[in-house]
Amino acid sequence: MSPQARPAASTSRHADRDGPGGRRLAQLEDISVTTLVSVKPKKAEALAEWGVTSVLDLLTTYPRRYIDRTRTADVADLAVGDEAVVFAEVKSTRSIRNPRGRGRVEVSVFDATGDMTLVFFNQPWREGQLSVGSQVLVWGKLADYRGKRQMAHPIVDLVARVESGAVESRMNQIIPVYPASAKAGLNSWEIATYVKEALDRAGPLADPLPVEWRRRFKLNGRTDAVRAIHRPERPADPWPARDRLVFDELLRLQLILVLRRRALERSARAIRHEVSPDEVSPGGGLGATLVGRFVAGLPFELTGAQRAALAKIFADMAGPLPMHRLLQGDVGSGKTVVAVGTMLAAVQGGHQGALMAPTEVLADQHFLGVRALADGLEVLDPGRLGGNRPVSVGLLTNKVPAKERARIVSELASGQMDIVIGTHALLTEDVQFASLGAVVVDEQHRFGVEQRAGLRAKGRIEESGDGATVDPDLLVMTATPIPRTAAMVVFGDLDMTVVDEQPPGRAPITTVWARGDLEEAAAWERIRSEVAAGHRAYVVCPLVEESERVVARSAVEEHARLSAEVLAGLRVGLLHGQLPTAQKKEVMDAFRDGALQVLVATTVIEVGIDVPEATVVVVEDADRFGIAQLHQLRGRVGRSSLPSWCYLLGGGGTEDGDARLAAVERTTDGFELAEVDLELRGEGTVLGERQTGSSGLRLTKLRRDKEWVERAREVAESIVAADPDLDDHPTLLEEVRSLLDQANADFLFKS
Ligand code: ADP
Ligand code: MG
Repeated sequence: MSPQARPAASTSRHADRDGPGGRRLAQLEDISVTTLVSVKPKKAEALAEWGVTSVLDLLTTYPRRYIDRTRTADVADLAVGDEAVVFAEVKSTRSIRNPRGRGRVEVSVFDATGDMTLVFFNQPWREGQLSVGSQVLVWGKLADYRGKRQMAHPIVDLVARVESGAVESRMNQIIPVYPASAKAGLNSWEIATYVKEALDRAGPLADPLPVEWRRRFKLNGRTDAVRAIHRPERPADPWPARDRLVFDELLRLQLILVLRRRALERSARAIRHEVSPDEVSPGGGLGATLVGRFVAGLPFELTGAQRAALAKIFADMAGPLPMHRLLQGDVGSGKTVVAVGTMLAAVQGGHQGALMAPTEVLADQHFLGVRALADGLEVLDPGRLGGNRPVSVGLLTNKVPAKERARIVSELASGQMDIVIGTHALLTEDVQFASLGAVVVDEQHRFGVEQRAGLRAKGRIEESGDGATVDPDLLVMTATPIPRTAAMVVFGDLDMTVVDEQPPGRAPITTVWARGDLEEAAAWERIRSEVAAGHRAYVVCPLVEESERVVARSAVEEHARLSAEVLAGLRVGLLHGQLPTAQKKEVMDAFRDGALQVLVATTVIEVGIDVPEATVVVVEDADRFGIAQLHQLRGRVGRSSLPSWCYLLGGGGTEDGDARLAAVERTTDGFELAEVDLELRGEGTVLGERQTGSSGLRLTKLRRDKEWVERAREVAESIVAADPDLDDHPTLLEEVRSLLDQANADFLFKS
């Protein structure tokens, strides 16, 4: 059935059955599939292997598609490829045998409009079954075989047998097709049987969705929806059913996010930072404060979007609740400046800032960037007679030598260090802060909620008395944009700000998908001419599936090949994750100051690396990279007023790979690419493996179900506003709790 056709939701036929009275999902979860008579012990084992142990598991195993045997047609009306039920009469049969003894039966049938052939392989008994003159109902897909109209292996009901009651008609039904598991030995038909029994025995289901919302969004009742998605009576039935079930999935998730946010607000107070949104307005507060001096001292004017983002952040930071904000922006939009401004806003009131990055190379790079931006800035140091001292910035990763590490740890604890940049290493227990005021997490969805919370907890001050804590402000940055609805699902507990403007004067990047040798030669030629003009180039090595070590080895080989052949005579450096830290730094420094002209690298350069003189990036085997990765890699060039080029080598492998390359070639808009990525790769891309699993999203497709994400958000907010502990929505509460582990449940529902 065509997924394009989306008829409006039909009104519930059993509205009166739904309500708090029926069976709850938690009850269905407590009933084992072994209690179903249709499930034999062997099959119960197979189901368990497949992750289906309860009746709830079974009922949330949804059909992938449906076979429509309700549609009837005359023979002449069928086009090739059509599936329909035809009422016809048998004209002739013949049996054909090949030399190996295998045979096929060809049955010619006709109706008032025309005729066609039915073909059965290895079913000699068909000849006797379908005798000349018998009337049949045939369901199948019409094909064209050497100019003849035929159906191979159709389903056939003999009308006489159906009418006599000897067999049940298999026509006039819609058959669900389940994602059967050949491995576990389960087919779609078996699952359909189990589901049917489960539905019949479960009876009406409790419907936790208040009726006013059901009416407002024309949603069916839950009982109807669950039935209609498994056993639709009409071809259009699954659509409204699906809408309802998707809404339920999203509502549970949004309730968790809204409740998490509320719990944070309820339990925590904020440091009221001494900063005002005016400090970034043009001409406002310039130079008077640390932030003001920082803004005034920048070698460029902030873009409007950067100003707007900082103003929002400062308003949050000065306010009574801890900030939880997501900062989105395309590659090159200048998020680092916003991050530094945020940390300095904490520093100017005597607190500290921490920035956590997902990789060492990136932490390194941020450290250099932040130190440069903070250069010449001073803070008031009450412990000192002179009063002022330079803003101090440190780097903490696992590669920092022990002695250096000890110094940083001690200065963070004493408050002598104002800003620290680091990796996961910041989460280590011995890292303590004198007064952590602002936390920035730069992620590529690589940090989970726990890690964000972990760094933040280092700044938490437990207050005696009411159990409330004082929490540092939190800013989460994404390296590449993610679609708005996806962000509402992944980061729905955060406020959102988008830096939707590039700094002025950026020259465009020309992207070329180099499909053949000629185009590839042009890429190497471009590197030579750009290097001759004093600019720099990256060559990104193919992505190898296996270990870091294998990736490194392939980079080493590629470096040797390129420097001996296509790039002979140029100063070509090599960077990969397995190099010792000191050497990595040496290579990066050499590339930055031009001692190296070309950098052959693995994806360690993916995020954040900022060398404005780089104007060419060549990505080898580009079809093996994801869209977000390609966009990030391309973002390593085009970082100044120099025109830049990105060459994507490869393609022609898979359809998806080619679609990715075509998309990246077509546009440099990260938000548009994020949408394409979601379309091509589905939820996993944005949610991350871990989050997809625990989110409870089984039917939801974020791209298709955008409107339902927004509606679920609205409903969740309205429900929680009126009933913060869900006391009046016990069934919803139970369903939400089932998605949470104990610690999270305790946090969200403090009794
Ligand atoms: P991203 O958002 O990708 O992290 P960065 O913060 O690394 O971007 O900034 C990219 C480059 O743009 C850097 O070289 C930075 O110095 C520069 N930049 C940032 N803001 C501005 C601005 N307002 N005007 C000009 N250049 C800017
Ligand atoms: Mg960045």
